[in-house]
Amino acid sequence: MHDDGRVLRPAGFAANEVPLLAAYLKKMCGDRVIAVVDSTNGLLDGPLRNAGIRVFRADPWDLPQRPVAGSVPAHALALRGRERAGGLVETDTENGTLKGRFDELDRGVESSAGREAELTRRGYCLTRGDAAAPRVALTFDDGPSEPYTGQVLDVLRDYGVAGTFFCVGLHASTAPGTLARIREEGHAVGNHTWSHPFLPDLTHDEMLFQLDATNKSIAEVTGEAPTLIRPPYGSRTPETLRWTADHDMTTVLWDRDSWDWAVPGPETIVENALDGISNGSIVLMHDGGGDRSQTIAALPVIIESLLTDGFQLVTVDRLRGSLLQS
Ligand code: ZN
Repeated sequence: MHDDGRVLRPAGFAANEVPLLAAYLKKMCGDRVIAVVDSTNGLLDGPLRNAGIRVFRADPWDLPQRPVAGSVPAHALALRGRERAGGLVETDTENGTLKGRFDELDRGVESSAGREAELTRRGYCLTRGDAAAPRVALTFDDGPSEPYTGQVLDVLRDYGVAGTFFCVGLHASTAPGTLARIREEGHAVGNHTWSHPFLPDLTHDEMLFQLDATNKSIAEVTGEAPTLIRPPYGSRTPETLRWTADHDMTTVLWDRDSWDWAVPGPETIVENALDGISNGSIVLMHDGGGDRSQTIAALPVIIESLLTDGFQLVTVDRLRGSLLQS
């Protein structure tokens, strides 16, 4: 929608066509284009910003009621952007999609501590594995996303180690070949929701849609629905944790964050990942959500260091298995 009110023919783009979407927007409006996303979609802002487009976020209180399965219509987002982009939060690389909502994220995490402890005892929540076994799990979120997922797989294959890929359903549904390769090469596949929403914004039914649509999409390729789910941004409330456990899925958090999503440079990613790493650590990294070339550069250094220090690199399933047996 132009700021003079002129409406152009709507166009649809699949999850793997974000570069086409960016080119379409720029062709339509040149450098004056802005994009508005909502907090149920954490997938678009990074790639659009990388294409030179300013991206604003509209929150639930800015928007009409959304359907259970997905976002409000693009037209509603465009209207909100035209009416008062100044009242919306502009996302940036440093803060990502959740800019301005980190306090809310922290409050949700803090209020979830009791529920997390309870679910950890019952095997429905995992922040780290067995401290007695020299095993570490590298985890990769937000893909499948080529060329990065393929490059991560190449590195893991070269060193003969396993990883766990928490896939976004929207991406998985357009990348069956990559998904199949992940499984064929002995890695684990987890659920990272359908569209990467900020979970505290979701109702119970919206949450189940995010879990089920993703599991179905993955199972169509791998033959099995994931039982592990990583919440986007680590966002959670006592309710979202309970809904997930009641759905017989285990929430997988992490104890080492590489901060690679903030693209701080490969050396810093290596330092962040390895700093304080110990038996049972779960390392958070990303193979999707934007330009991951720094992650690809850091990964061999991280793996070599861990192998040199005598760690086995295993899937989260295996890390979890050793914990359940001990
Ligand atoms: Zn994510």
